[in-house]
Amino acid sequence: MSLTVVGSMAFDDIETPFGKSDKIVGGAATYIAWCASNFTPVNQISVVGGDFPAGELDALSARGVNLEGVQVKKDEKSFYWAGRYHMDMNTRDTLVTELNVLGTFQPVVPESYQDCEFLMLGNLAPSVQLSVIDQLRHKPKLIVIDTMNFWMDIALEDLKKVLAKVDVLLVNDSEARQLSGEYSLVKAAAVITRMGPRFLIIKKGEHGALLFHGNHVFFAPALPLEEVFDPTGAGDTFAGGFIGHLARTKDISFENMKTAIIVGSAMASFCVEKFGTQRLREISRPDIDERIRQFVELVNFDISLV
Ligand code: AMP
Repeated sequence: MSLTVVGSMAFDDIETPFGKSDKIVGGAATYIAWCASNFTPVNQISVVGGDFPAGELDALSARGVNLEGVQVKKDEKSFYWAGRYHMDMNTRDTLVTELNVLGTFQPVVPESYQDCEFLMLGNLAPSVQLSVIDQLRHKPKLIVIDTMNFWMDIALEDLKKVLAKVDVLLVNDSEARQLSGEYSLVKAAAVITRMGPRFLIIKKGEHGALLFHGNHVFFAPALPLEEVFDPTGAGDTFAGGFIGHLARTKDISFENMKTAIIVGSAMASFCVEKFGTQRLREISRPDIDERIRQFVELVNFDISLV
């Protein structure tokens, strides 16, 4: 089952209360690909500069990530992002954003990606996300989109155009409030789902995630971890686990999306344990299964109603 992923591949510089990463490889599509490739082959669409390490691309290829759609601009620099987390690790300041190759990115969908059945639009300019949808000759079975407040501030009209064409939107709680103008997340979900996406996932960091669809709501907790080392990429990893599971099982029912949210949450819990993509590179299928089992234990309870 083909999964196409669009998003940034980047250099990140991360500072947390626990340490500094220096310049490491990151980017939304990098996290999504490392995560989703545990479940299904990935067709990647992105852009990097000549400074992006060839070894990083080789490592992704070895994982079953097809890089035909990744443009390498030899004489330019890769996207660079630097951020610093506050003590609570839920909030961060962006210190530097250098768009470099991302500033002029015009994605080209290779012919071999045209059979795409699942499309993951990582956080990028809405016009770029829209261009990928428009290049596909057949509408995928499911389109999932991630976005952020930045695009709501500077490109709301473009964002609304792309939202009208997608099935699932992933945002955090403050972004859901900004996009809808409603404080209640239940009211926010009603407003947002009228904009296009039939399913809405609201991420609440260490407090888990909510899935809305019509009158149905599902809640998945985040695994209580002793230590969150670096939350960068947790949202992208969640997205990769969510769509990876759906692509592997080929089932886009609400029931299966509940499982997909648990898979996404389990994968995100690995991501935050080390800097960058390091932990995602180390884990194998048995580690993932054990983590999912811990989730089942966390939320499973017997109750008899009299
Ligand atoms: P997350 O922690 O899930 O929000 O994602 C963090 C990743 O997003 C980092 O690896 C950054 O390289 C990437 N990123 C940050 N800002 C942007 C942006 N404006 N466009 C695309 N990717 C970005």
